[in-house]
Amino acid sequence: MVPDSQLAAFYIPAFPPARPAPVMQIRTPGGELVDLAAGGRADVAGPRGWDAQLRTMGYARSSRWTSVDDLELGGGPVHMCQAVRAAQTGPSGRPADHLGNGLLPSCTSFTLLTDEQAAKLGRSKFGLHAGDVVECEYIAHHRLPHTGLGQADPRDVDAGVDESQLRWWWLMWHGQEAVLTPGLLCGVEGPVPGNGQVIDPCALPWGHEAKSPHSWQLEAFAPGGASRHSFRPRRRGDIAPRRPGQD
Ligand SMILES: [Zn+2]
Ligand SMILES: [Zn+2]
Repeated sequence: MVPDSQLAAFYIPAFPPARPAPVMQIRTPGGELVDLAAGGRADVAGPRGWDAQLRTMGYARSSRWTSVDDLELGGGPVHMCQAVRAAQTGPSGRPADHLGNGLLPSCTSFTLLTDEQAAKLGRSKFGLHAGDVVECEYIAHHRLPHTGLGQADPRDVDAGVDESQLRWWWLMWHGQEAVLTPGLLCGVEGPVPGNGQVIDPCALPWGHEAKSPHSWQLEAFAPGGASRHSFRPRRRGDIAPRRPGQD
């Protein structure tokens, strides 16, 4: 049996008449088709809809969605990510589907990391690549700009900077304008809605409070949420944290 960590999910856009609806495929590293479904929940736009579709198929995302340029299947870019079976227990031993109801809707805006931004962030040292999907982490209908990414600076990590002073990088965008900006992490802890048991540090930028609830109140980190946070251990989604130098 193929290890779950090696499964990949592909979101393939519609291309009528040959492909009237988008398709979600789960494949092995050798390309063998494991699972297949209509791709993307129509009521949830973009990558959050792709995530929702994966969950209905019994899988969860364990890496960022990245655009795949060379498949040329028509209808727009194909996106892929690493996927695991959702019933799998995570590194902490808790089941990955521990979150319940009560979460607030997240903003559905997303953008793609440019080559220039990926280079500025150190590319693979952050586990980042041009074409990576960056989702907004704020609540739906928040004030602009959209804000996502949240990556600890590996230079600070390497230098052993205290966690409270660790510099994080955020991508802020509005229309076609996007800017990388450093900031501190909010880090306020609280119980995740649903079961009220999990105490999790907020993964949003310091000072966000006037604009958005803490990250643990939002659907953004529903089971299978990507491991975007490279230094501070993230328990939400129960995916192993990505650390600088780990691709
Ligand atoms: Zn937003
Ligand atoms: Zn917060």
